[in-house]
Amino acid sequence: MLLLRRGDDGPAVAEIRATLVTLKLLPPATGSGRPDVFDDAVEHAVRTFQQQRGLITDGIVGPATYRSLCDARWRLGDRNLAYLVSNPMCGDDVYALQERMLELGYNAGRADGVFGSQTEHALRNFQRDYGLVVDGMCGPGTLRALRQLSPRARGGRQVFLREQENLRNSGPRLSGKRIVIDPGHGGQDRGVFVAGVAEADLVWDLARRLEGRMVATGMEALLSRGEQVCPAEADRAQFANKAGADLFLSLHTDANRSPLAEGVSTYHFGTGQGTTSSTVGEALAGFIQRELTARTGLLDCNTHPKTWETLRLTRCPAVRVEVGYLTNENDRRRLLDPAFRDIVAEGILVAVKRLYLLGENDQPTGTFTFKDLLQYELAKAD
Ligand SMILES: [Zn+2]
Repeated sequence: MLLLRRGDDGPAVAEIRATLVTLKLLPPATGSGRPDVFDDAVEHAVRTFQQQRGLITDGIVGPATYRSLCDARWRLGDRNLAYLVSNPMCGDDVYALQERMLELGYNAGRADGVFGSQTEHALRNFQRDYGLVVDGMCGPGTLRALRQLSPRARGGRQVFLREQENLRNSGPRLSGKRIVIDPGHGGQDRGVFVAGVAEADLVWDLARRLEGRMVATGMEALLSRGEQVCPAEADRAQFANKAGADLFLSLHTDANRSPLAEGVSTYHFGTGQGTTSSTVGEALAGFIQRELTARTGLLDCNTHPKTWETLRLTRCPAVRVEVGYLTNENDRRRLLDPAFRDIVAEGILVAVKRLYLLGENDQPTGTFTFKDLLQYELAKAD
Protein backbone atom coordinates (compact mmCIF):
# COMPACT_ATOMS: atom_id res chain seq x y z
CA MET A 1 0.00 0.00 0.00
CA LEU A 2 1.29 3.42 -0.99
CA LEU A 3 1.89 5.79 1.92
CA LEU A 4 3.88 8.97 1.43
CA ARG A 5 4.51 11.52 4.12
CA ARG A 6 6.81 14.38 5.13
CA GLY A 7 10.48 13.40 4.75
CA ASP A 8 9.90 10.97 1.84
CA ASP A 9 11.39 11.58 -1.58
CA GLY A 10 11.51 10.03 -5.02
CA PRO A 11 9.61 10.02 -8.32
CA ALA A 12 6.21 9.42 -6.67
CA VAL A 13 6.69 12.57 -4.56
CA ALA A 14 7.72 14.50 -7.68
CA GLU A 15 4.49 13.42 -9.33
CA ILE A 16 2.41 14.52 -6.32
CA ARG A 17 4.23 17.87 -6.26
CA ALA A 18 3.52 18.39 -9.94
CA THR A 19 -0.18 17.68 -9.42
CA LEU A 20 -0.37 20.08 -6.46
CA VAL A 21 1.30 22.76 -8.60
CA THR A 22 -1.25 22.17 -11.37
CA LEU A 23 -4.02 22.55 -8.80
CA LYS A 24 -2.41 25.82 -7.69
CA LEU A 25 -2.04 24.49 -4.15
CA LEU A 26 1.75 24.69 -4.36
CA PRO A 27 3.93 27.31 -6.08
CA PRO A 28 6.08 25.97 -8.94
CA ALA A 29 9.46 24.63 -7.71
CA THR A 30 12.26 27.20 -7.68
CA GLY A 31 15.73 26.42 -9.02
CA SER A 32 17.25 25.79 -5.60
CA GLY A 33 14.97 23.20 -3.94
CA ARG A 34 14.73 19.54 -4.95
CA PRO A 35 11.44 18.92 -6.78
CA ASP A 36 11.02 15.38 -5.38
CA VAL A 37 11.02 15.97 -1.62
CA PHE A 38 7.91 15.77 0.57
CA ASP A 39 8.56 18.88 2.69
CA ASP A 40 6.43 21.09 4.95
CA ALA A 41 5.01 23.00 1.99
CA VAL A 42 3.88 19.75 0.32
CA GLU A 43 2.32 18.53 3.52
CA HIS A 44 0.41 21.77 3.89
CA ALA A 45 -0.80 21.57 0.29
CA VAL A 46 -1.87 17.94 0.77
CA ARG A 47 -3.86 18.93 3.86
CA THR A 48 -5.60 21.73 1.97
CA PHE A 49 -6.39 19.32 -0.86
CA GLN A 50 -7.77 16.73 1.58
CA GLN A 51 -9.94 19.35 3.24
CA GLN A 52 -11.34 20.50 -0.10
CA ARG A 53 -12.15 16.92 -1.06
CA GLY A 54 -13.73 15.77 2.17
CA LEU A 55 -10.89 13.34 2.86
CA ILE A 56 -9.29 12.67 6.23
CA THR A 57 -6.98 15.66 6.75
CA ASP A 58 -3.75 14.00 7.88
CA GLY A 59 -1.24 15.39 5.35
CA ILE A 60 -0.31 11.82 4.35
CA VAL A 61 -0.81 10.55 0.82
CA GLY A 62 -2.46 7.12 1.17
CA PRO A 63 -4.51 5.27 -1.45
CA ALA A 64 -7.63 7.48 -1.17
CA THR A 65 -5.72 10.76 -1.37
CA TYR A 66 -3.53 9.43 -4.17
CA ARG A 67 -6.56 8.40 -6.20
CA SER A 68 -8.20 11.80 -5.63
CA LEU A 69 -5.00 13.55 -6.75
CA CYS A 70 -4.98 11.46 -9.94
CA ASP A 71 -8.66 12.29 -10.55
CA ALA A 72 -8.05 15.99 -9.93
CA ARG A 73 -5.54 16.21 -12.77
CA TRP A 74 -8.21 15.89 -15.46
CA ARG A 75 -10.11 18.91 -16.78
CA LEU A 76 -13.10 18.49 -19.08
CA GLY A 77 -11.73 18.52 -22.63
CA ASP A 78 -8.31 17.07 -21.75
CA ARG A 79 -9.28 13.71 -23.24
CA ASN A 80 -12.18 11.93 -24.90
CA LEU A 81 -14.50 10.30 -22.41
CA ALA A 82 -16.29 7.02 -23.00
CA TYR A 83 -17.71 4.07 -21.14
CA LEU A 84 -15.00 1.43 -20.77
CA VAL A 85 -16.77 -1.54 -19.25
CA SER A 86 -13.79 -3.32 -17.70
CA ASN A 87 -11.86 -0.23 -16.64
CA PRO A 88 -14.18 2.78 -16.19
CA MET A 89 -12.67 6.22 -16.66
CA CYS A 90 -12.44 8.32 -13.48
CA GLY A 91 -11.61 11.93 -12.88
CA ASP A 92 -12.75 15.46 -12.31
CA ASP A 93 -13.50 15.74 -16.03
CA VAL A 94 -16.03 12.91 -15.72
CA TYR A 95 -17.45 14.62 -12.66
CA ALA A 96 -17.79 17.91 -14.56
CA LEU A 97 -19.49 16.10 -17.45
CA GLN A 98 -21.98 14.44 -15.09
CA GLU A 99 -22.73 17.73 -13.35
CA ARG A 100 -23.31 19.37 -16.71
CA MET A 101 -25.64 16.57 -17.86
CA LEU A 102 -27.61 16.85 -14.63
CA GLU A 103 -27.90 20.60 -15.01
CA LEU A 104 -29.31 20.02 -18.46
CA GLY A 105 -31.86 17.60 -17.07
CA TYR A 106 -30.28 14.31 -18.18
CA ASN A 107 -30.13 11.55 -15.62
CA ALA A 108 -26.42 10.76 -15.58
CA GLY A 109 -26.74 9.12 -12.18
CA ARG A 110 -25.15 10.52 -9.08
CA ALA A 111 -22.18 12.69 -10.05
CA ASP A 112 -19.42 10.43 -8.76
CA GLY A 113 -16.60 11.05 -11.23
CA VAL A 114 -16.87 7.53 -12.68
CA PHE A 115 -18.00 7.15 -16.31
CA GLY A 116 -20.49 4.29 -15.97
CA SER A 117 -23.31 2.93 -18.08
CA GLN A 118 -25.78 5.51 -16.79
CA THR A 119 -23.48 8.37 -17.77
CA GLU A 120 -23.21 6.87 -21.23
CA HIS A 121 -26.96 6.42 -21.46
CA ALA A 122 -27.57 10.06 -20.51
CA LEU A 123 -24.94 11.24 -22.96
CA ARG A 124 -26.54 9.24 -25.80
CA ASN A 125 -29.92 10.79 -25.01
CA PHE A 126 -28.33 14.22 -25.05
CA GLN A 127 -26.61 13.53 -28.38
CA ARG A 128 -29.86 12.26 -29.89
CA ASP A 129 -31.82 15.32 -28.69
CA TYR A 130 -29.28 17.76 -30.09
CA GLY A 131 -28.68 16.07 -33.44
CA LEU A 132 -25.11 15.01 -32.69
CA VAL A 133 -23.46 11.71 -33.62
CA VAL A 134 -24.92 9.27 -31.10
CA ASP A 135 -21.83 7.37 -29.97
CA GLY A 136 -22.00 7.83 -26.19
CA MET A 137 -18.55 9.42 -26.27
CA CYS A 138 -17.68 12.88 -25.07
CA GLY A 139 -15.36 14.23 -27.77
CA PRO A 140 -14.82 17.76 -29.12
CA GLY A 141 -18.21 18.01 -30.92
CA THR A 142 -20.28 16.92 -27.93
CA LEU A 143 -18.20 19.09 -25.64
CA ARG A 144 -18.84 22.15 -27.78
CA ALA A 145 -22.60 21.50 -27.69
CA LEU A 146 -22.52 20.97 -23.92
CA ARG A 147 -20.73 24.26 -23.40
CA GLN A 148 -23.02 26.27 -25.65
CA LEU A 149 -26.24 25.28 -23.95
CA SER A 150 -27.61 27.09 -20.96
CA PRO A 151 -28.96 24.84 -18.26
CA ARG A 152 -32.69 24.20 -18.32
CA ALA A 153 -32.88 24.39 -14.58
CA ARG A 154 -29.77 25.88 -13.03
CA GLY A 155 -28.78 24.12 -9.86
CA GLY A 156 -31.52 21.52 -10.30
CA ARG A 157 -29.92 18.30 -9.23
CA GLN A 158 -32.05 15.67 -10.87
CA VAL A 159 -30.68 12.68 -9.03
CA PHE A 160 -31.24 14.14 -5.61
CA LEU A 161 -34.71 15.31 -6.57
CA ARG A 162 -35.37 11.74 -7.69
CA GLU A 163 -34.16 10.45 -4.30
CA GLN A 164 -36.72 12.71 -2.63
CA GLU A 165 -39.44 11.55 -4.98
CA ASN A 166 -38.63 7.89 -4.30
CA LEU A 167 -38.80 8.58 -0.59
CA ARG A 168 -42.21 10.25 -0.86
CA ASN A 169 -43.55 7.46 -3.04
CA SER A 170 -42.33 4.68 -0.79
CA GLY A 171 -44.75 5.51 2.03
CA PRO A 172 -44.32 5.72 5.78
CA ARG A 173 -44.27 1.98 6.62
CA LEU A 174 -40.98 0.29 7.37
CA SER A 175 -42.24 -3.12 6.29
CA GLY A 176 -40.74 -4.20 2.98
CA LYS A 177 -37.99 -1.62 2.93
CA ARG A 178 -34.55 -3.01 2.22
CA ILE A 179 -31.71 -1.66 4.30
CA VAL A 180 -28.04 -2.53 4.03
CA ILE A 181 -26.27 -2.26 7.38
CA ASP A 182 -22.53 -1.88 6.92
CA PRO A 183 -20.43 -2.70 9.99
CA GLY A 184 -17.05 -1.06 9.36
CA HIS A 185 -13.78 -3.01 9.04
CA GLY A 186 -13.85 -6.75 9.96
CA GLY A 187 -11.59 -9.79 9.63
CA GLN A 188 -7.92 -8.80 9.82
CA ASP A 189 -8.86 -5.11 9.86
CA ARG A 190 -9.84 -4.43 13.47
CA GLY A 191 -10.45 -0.70 12.90
CA VAL A 192 -9.67 1.47 15.90
CA PHE A 193 -8.09 -0.69 18.60
CA VAL A 194 -7.74 0.72 22.12
CA ALA A 195 -7.22 -1.07 25.43
CA GLY A 196 -8.20 -4.44 23.99
CA VAL A 197 -11.39 -3.07 22.43
CA ALA A 198 -11.75 -3.38 18.65
CA GLU A 199 -14.01 -1.16 16.58
CA ALA A 200 -14.73 -4.08 14.21
CA ASP A 201 -16.25 -6.15 17.02
CA LEU A 202 -18.27 -3.32 18.53
CA VAL A 203 -19.85 -2.27 15.25
CA TRP A 204 -20.51 -5.90 14.34
CA ASP A 205 -22.46 -6.32 17.56
CA LEU A 206 -24.25 -3.01 17.00
CA ALA A 207 -25.15 -4.07 13.45
CA ARG A 208 -26.69 -7.32 14.73
CA ARG A 209 -28.77 -5.45 17.30
CA LEU A 210 -30.01 -3.05 14.62
CA GLU A 211 -30.66 -5.92 12.21
CA GLY A 212 -32.80 -7.73 14.81
CA ARG A 213 -34.96 -4.69 15.41
CA MET A 214 -35.35 -3.96 11.74
CA VAL A 215 -36.41 -7.50 10.94
CA ALA A 216 -38.97 -7.31 13.77
CA THR A 217 -40.61 -4.35 12.06
CA GLY A 218 -40.85 -6.24 8.77
CA MET A 219 -37.88 -4.58 7.14
CA GLU A 220 -35.38 -6.51 5.10
CA ALA A 221 -32.02 -5.90 6.76
CA LEU A 222 -28.88 -7.11 4.99
CA LEU A 223 -25.35 -6.99 6.40
CA SER A 224 -22.63 -5.85 4.01
CA ARG A 225 -20.08 -8.28 5.43
CA GLY A 226 -19.68 -11.47 7.43
CA GLU A 227 -18.13 -11.41 10.88
CA GLN A 228 -14.65 -12.52 9.75
CA VAL A 229 -14.19 -10.58 6.51
CA CYS A 230 -13.43 -7.04 5.45
CA PRO A 231 -14.70 -6.25 1.94
CA ALA A 232 -13.29 -3.15 0.19
CA GLU A 233 -15.37 -0.01 0.55
CA ALA A 234 -16.31 -0.10 -3.14
CA ASP A 235 -17.49 -3.72 -2.78
CA ARG A 236 -19.73 -2.78 0.12
CA ALA A 237 -21.32 -0.10 -2.07
CA GLN A 238 -21.68 -2.61 -4.92
CA PHE A 239 -23.36 -5.04 -2.55
CA ALA A 240 -26.00 -2.41 -1.72
CA ASN A 241 -26.44 -1.51 -5.39
CA LYS A 242 -26.92 -5.14 -6.42
CA ALA A 243 -29.37 -5.68 -3.58
CA GLY A 244 -31.38 -2.66 -4.73
CA ALA A 245 -31.20 -1.24 -1.20
CA ASP A 246 -33.40 1.67 -0.13
CA LEU A 247 -30.83 2.92 2.37
CA PHE A 248 -27.23 2.20 3.31
CA LEU A 249 -26.17 2.62 6.95
CA SER A 250 -22.49 2.37 7.77
CA LEU A 251 -21.46 1.94 11.41
CA HIS A 252 -18.09 2.98 12.81
CA THR A 253 -16.46 4.32 15.94
CA ASP A 254 -13.97 7.16 15.80
CA ALA A 255 -10.44 7.77 17.05
CA ASN A 256 -8.30 10.80 17.73
CA ARG A 257 -4.75 11.47 18.87
CA SER A 258 -6.26 13.45 21.72
CA PRO A 259 -8.00 11.32 24.37
CA LEU A 260 -10.26 14.31 24.98
CA ALA A 261 -11.99 14.06 21.60
CA GLU A 262 -15.46 12.57 22.10
CA GLY A 263 -18.94 12.40 20.66
CA VAL A 264 -21.02 11.21 17.73
CA SER A 265 -21.06 12.51 14.15
CA THR A 266 -22.97 11.40 11.06
CA TYR A 267 -21.86 11.74 7.45
CA HIS A 268 -23.77 11.83 4.17
CA PHE A 269 -22.73 12.17 0.55
CA GLY A 270 -21.81 15.68 -0.51
CA THR A 271 -18.85 17.65 -1.76
CA GLY A 272 -19.40 20.51 0.65
CA GLN A 273 -19.31 22.81 -2.36
CA GLY A 274 -22.29 24.13 -4.29
CA THR A 275 -25.50 22.17 -4.17
CA THR A 276 -24.16 18.69 -4.83
CA SER A 277 -25.43 16.91 -1.78
CA SER A 278 -27.76 14.00 -1.21
CA THR A 279 -30.78 15.69 0.39
CA VAL A 280 -32.27 12.43 1.63
CA GLY A 281 -28.90 11.32 2.98
CA GLU A 282 -28.55 14.66 4.70
CA ALA A 283 -32.03 14.40 6.22
CA LEU A 284 -31.36 10.88 7.50
CA ALA A 285 -28.00 11.93 8.93
CA GLY A 286 -29.80 14.76 10.74
CA PHE A 287 -32.43 12.43 12.24
CA ILE A 288 -29.78 9.94 13.37
CA GLN A 289 -27.65 12.67 14.87
CA ARG A 290 -30.59 14.18 16.78
CA GLU A 291 -31.93 10.84 18.06
CA LEU A 292 -28.51 9.61 19.18
CA THR A 293 -27.52 12.78 20.99
CA ALA A 294 -30.91 13.00 22.70
CA ARG A 295 -30.89 9.34 23.77
CA THR A 296 -27.24 8.78 24.69
CA GLY A 297 -25.93 12.13 25.86
CA LEU A 298 -22.92 11.64 23.55
CA LEU A 299 -21.45 14.97 22.50
CA ASP A 300 -23.05 16.32 19.31
CA CYS A 301 -20.32 16.58 16.67
CA ASN A 302 -22.86 17.33 13.92
CA THR A 303 -23.49 16.01 10.43
CA HIS A 304 -21.04 16.56 7.58
CA PRO A 305 -20.93 16.03 3.81
CA LYS A 306 -18.19 13.65 2.64
CA THR A 307 -17.21 11.97 -0.60
CA TRP A 308 -16.06 8.69 0.96
CA GLU A 309 -16.37 5.70 -1.35
CA THR A 310 -19.30 4.01 0.38
CA LEU A 311 -21.23 7.30 0.33
CA ARG A 312 -20.22 8.16 -3.22
CA LEU A 313 -20.67 4.81 -4.93
CA THR A 314 -23.97 3.69 -3.40
CA ARG A 315 -26.92 4.49 -5.59
CA CYS A 316 -29.30 4.79 -2.64
CA PRO A 317 -29.04 7.45 0.09
CA ALA A 318 -26.17 6.45 2.37
CA VAL A 319 -24.96 7.61 5.75
CA ARG A 320 -22.09 6.73 8.04
CA VAL A 321 -22.34 7.09 11.79
CA GLU A 322 -19.22 7.42 13.92
CA VAL A 323 -20.66 6.43 17.30
CA GLY A 324 -18.27 7.81 19.90
CA TYR A 325 -14.48 7.82 20.17
CA LEU A 326 -12.81 4.61 21.28
CA THR A 327 -9.80 6.77 22.21
CA ASN A 328 -11.97 8.59 24.75
CA GLU A 329 -12.26 6.72 28.02
CA ASN A 330 -15.84 7.78 28.71
CA ASP A 331 -17.15 7.01 25.21
CA ARG A 332 -15.30 3.66 25.23
CA ARG A 333 -16.74 2.62 28.60
CA ARG A 334 -20.25 3.40 27.40
CA LEU A 335 -19.82 1.56 24.11
CA LEU A 336 -18.74 -1.52 26.02
CA ASP A 337 -22.12 -1.64 27.74
CA PRO A 338 -24.58 -3.83 25.76
CA ALA A 339 -27.53 -1.79 27.08
CA PHE A 340 -25.95 1.32 25.61
CA ARG A 341 -25.60 -0.39 22.24
CA ASP A 342 -29.30 -1.28 22.41
CA ILE A 343 -30.11 2.39 22.89
CA VAL A 344 -27.97 3.31 19.90
CA ALA A 345 -29.63 0.65 17.71
CA GLU A 346 -33.06 1.87 18.75
CA GLY A 347 -32.13 5.49 18.07
CA ILE A 348 -30.95 4.65 14.56
CA LEU A 349 -34.10 2.63 13.83
CA VAL A 350 -36.35 5.48 15.00
CA ALA A 351 -34.34 7.90 12.84
CA VAL A 352 -35.01 5.70 9.79
CA LYS A 353 -38.69 5.66 10.73
CA ARG A 354 -38.72 9.44 10.99
CA LEU A 355 -37.17 9.69 7.55
CA TYR A 356 -40.05 7.68 6.06
CA LEU A 357 -42.57 9.72 8.03
CA LEU A 358 -41.04 12.70 6.20
CA GLY A 359 -40.56 14.38 9.55
CA GLU A 360 -44.33 14.31 10.22
CA ASN A 361 -44.29 12.93 13.71
CA ASP A 362 -45.09 14.82 16.86
CA GLN A 363 -43.16 12.53 19.23
CA PRO A 364 -40.31 14.66 20.54
CA THR A 365 -36.83 13.53 19.55
CA GLY A 366 -35.50 10.81 21.82
CA THR A 367 -38.87 9.60 23.14
CA PHE A 368 -40.22 7.42 20.32
CA THR A 369 -39.68 3.87 21.61
CA PHE A 370 -39.27 0.57 19.81
CA LYS A 371 -42.64 -0.48 21.24
CA ASP A 372 -44.34 2.67 19.87
CA LEU A 373 -42.79 1.90 16.56
CA LEU A 374 -44.02 -1.70 16.42
CA GLN A 375 -47.50 -0.54 17.38
CA TYR A 376 -47.43 2.05 14.65
CA GLU A 377 -46.38 -0.53 12.08
CA LEU A 378 -49.10 -2.95 13.17
CA ALA A 379 -51.80 -0.27 13.07
CA LYS A 380 -50.76 0.68 9.55
CA ALA A 381 -50.79 -2.96 8.48
CA ASP A 382 -54.55 -3.24 8.90
ZN1 LIG B 1 -13.95 2.84 11.29
